[in-house]
Amino acid sequence: MPKRKTTWECGHSGQGKFCHRCEQVRIEALRAEEARLAKKQAKLKDDVVDLSVLPESHQITARDIIRRIEKGVHWSRCGGRRLRKNQTYVVFELGLRWRLIGTDKKEKFEFLQACSHQEYNTILGSH
Ligand SMILES: [Zn+2]
Repeated sequence: MPKRKTTWECGHSGQGKFCHRCEQVRIEALRAEEARLAKKQAKLKDDVVDLSVLPESHQITARDIIRRIEKGVHWSRCGGRRLRKNQTYVVFELGLRWRLIGTDKKEKFEFLQACSHQEYNTILGSH
């Protein structure tokens, strides 16, 4: 009996119960997505503070700020400003909605938290 060729909904044709070409594309896309997520997780694990709350573009900005400060650049040169209400806190604005908070200890700059603008108001508003 000759093998029958099927044409699937995707327009490809071949033998078997489903389109192996599309299946291959789907598997590759899944693998790429898994790799992307794994890379993202690895980065998050390395961060000194949890940046997972931030949108990805702001995570990149926050990491850049952290990296520069760790290299010895002063926070005021990385967009940080002292909080007027409580001078021990330094805040970095990440767009309109996100903030990275740190504290300027004499020996070392310490990052405390990344949060939304609303959370930031709640956290520091009471001080
Ligand atoms: Zn196909």
